[in-house]
Amino acid sequence: MVAVDYDKIADRLAALSDEERNAFSAGSVESSLKEHARFSEAFEQGRCYICERPLATFSSENPCLHWLLKPKGFKKKHFPAVAARYSMFQIETYLRWVANTDGLAKNINALPEEGTGKLREVTVRYKHLEWSFSCTESDLRGHASTAHSNFPHFHFQMRLDRRPFINYSDFHLPLHERDVVGFELSKRMPDIFKIKFPGGEGMEEILQPQNYQVLLSKSSKSPDPEHAGLNISSMLIADDGHTIDGSALADLIERARAEGVTVASLLHTIPNASATTIISPGPAVVEQAPRNGRGT
Ligand SMILES: [Zn+2]
Ligand SMILES: [Zn+2]
Repeated sequence: MVAVDYDKIADRLAALSDEERNAFSAGSVESSLKEHARFSEAFEQGRCYICERPLATFSSENPCLHWLLKPKGFKKKHFPAVAARYSMFQIETYLRWVANTDGLAKNINALPEEGTGKLREVTVRYKHLEWSFSCTESDLRGHASTAHSNFPHFHFQMRLDRRPFINYSDFHLPLHERDVVGFELSKRMPDIFKIKFPGGEGMEEILQPQNYQVLLSKSSKSPDPEHAGLNISSMLIADDGHTIDGSALADLIERARAEGVTVASLLHTIPNASATTIISPGPAVVEQAPRNGRGT
């Protein structure tokens, strides 16, 4: 791999005006969404939009992302060929699209754990399939001590019905140059350069404060709390010198039930009080699959 001066690229990006940057990012979002549309149409028909074959087929001479849906014949040993052809972020994008065909965002958990030194830790689920990616600072640098891992790489886990199929420790999968560029730039300029997955938004993207109003208006109370994608809890505080009218609150809860909307979305209608709503991942959100051990 040719040595790339990431500081220089970061400087150039930082020098762009907001307008130039937005135009660039809007263009790439648009082309991803077009690709996503092609994916969705084919996926609904049980067909792969990349190789054009049925999703249930496998032929070892043509490595394809749809192999990760576990067609008959796909084995652990075939995975490195997929990772050689497609970059980590391409694989992740594809799996996120697959996951979102079965309920928006709740099947994708990339919520960062603070202070873990992990660059990427994400678990994606679709029905009985679960895939996880892990890349730490030390994976990106390459563990210098051993020849089989002294290059930028990531780790991958796949489970079927919660049973291991590929383990994190099975492979050191080389990062493609575009992965390394993505990591390096997002480290150097986290506010400007963000890795995005249009059409594959997970909990991390959904739970941004600017989306709260939309989430509240689109959420409905789950008939079965165990299957809720979001936890919405609210606090109502009376303004100074006022008390909250209990009967108005009771009416509002009744109204929310009748209309099938969340109580939180109506709270602002209670007079002389202010409502604070906290939105967090609900019980149906896929859990991150932990990667234990060191030096793997
Ligand atoms: Zn395919
Ligand atoms: Zn490693």
